[in-house]
Amino acid sequence: MKIISKVVNDAVASVYVAEFSEGRRVEFVESVQPPLSRDKKWVVIVSTLFGCPVGCKMCDAGGGYAGQCSADEMLAQIDYLIGTRFPNGKVETEKFKVQFARMGEPAFNGDVLAVLEQLPGRYGVDGLIPSVSTIGPSGREAFFEKLLAIKQELYGGGYFQMQFSLHSTDEAKRDWLIPVRKWSFERIAEYGEAFWEPGDRKVTLNFALGKDVPLEAGVLKRYFDPRKFVVKITPLNPTYNAAANDLVSHIDPDADCRDDAVLQDLRQAGYDVILSIGEVEENKIGSNCGQYLARYMEADRAVEGGYSYPVEQM
Ligand code: SF4
Repeated sequence: MKIISKVVNDAVASVYVAEFSEGRRVEFVESVQPPLSRDKKWVVIVSTLFGCPVGCKMCDAGGGYAGQCSADEMLAQIDYLIGTRFPNGKVETEKFKVQFARMGEPAFNGDVLAVLEQLPGRYGVDGLIPSVSTIGPSGREAFFEKLLAIKQELYGGGYFQMQFSLHSTDEAKRDWLIPVRKWSFERIAEYGEAFWEPGDRKVTLNFALGKDVPLEAGVLKRYFDPRKFVVKITPLNPTYNAAANDLVSHIDPDADCRDDAVLQDLRQAGYDVILSIGEVEENKIGSNCGQYLARYMEADRAVEGGYSYPVEQM
């Protein structure tokens, strides 16, 4: 693996672009969540595919699919990030979150499961919490069955975060935003019910919510039990594809949206609601969800509020 470019902000997040054989490229990220220091919580976000065949409307990482990352290629991303922050190789943090969420739908890569099996023994960190964020693609039943078995064997008691990205409760809108065949809400609910056990983190239903995109608490309630599912709302980050598809964020990251009507409806329906805004600086670094440095480097114009850090070539 050869690092070819990077954007580094020691206080918030860093993004690395790496090249593997045959010129296939991935990006990966490490970040902290101020005010928590790195020794309290450290997050690494790895790519699972070279490109992504899904092509979500808000995501700059979709397109240009060139295959799956092997387990070794995913572990190389994690090892590199550990080397940048913990040169002795020992990850000294209370919470070490490994997210399979930069580029690529993780359920399209069976080697994600092999990495999940290796993580505890390889890094030996007590506070290790993997996070799999998926759109729930159809035809990947065997992947999800094995994922459930791995969670039960290695990550019980709240040490796993399972997330389904839905983005809308309107089926037609969801199909437009996530243009591949995927599980119905009923199937996601059924899996989530089997996945969650007492002591686990609730299964997250994630909405990168666009303005005027339906998110109806009543529809969610028909399928998802608030005792087992939590709703996470994030802003739609400033990406080239969001702009090209006229998607505007429902949540303004600079405003106080805690009493937003959509959030209130969800709370009244009994859901815990996470308003996940994070660091706005990450939009400028290009480390946020849906962002992809390669897109920024190819572009001849800026995206308002987005990528603006200089990219260091190696
Ligand atoms: S959001 Fe995830 S699944 Fe959708 S195109 Fe981007 S990387 Fe692929």
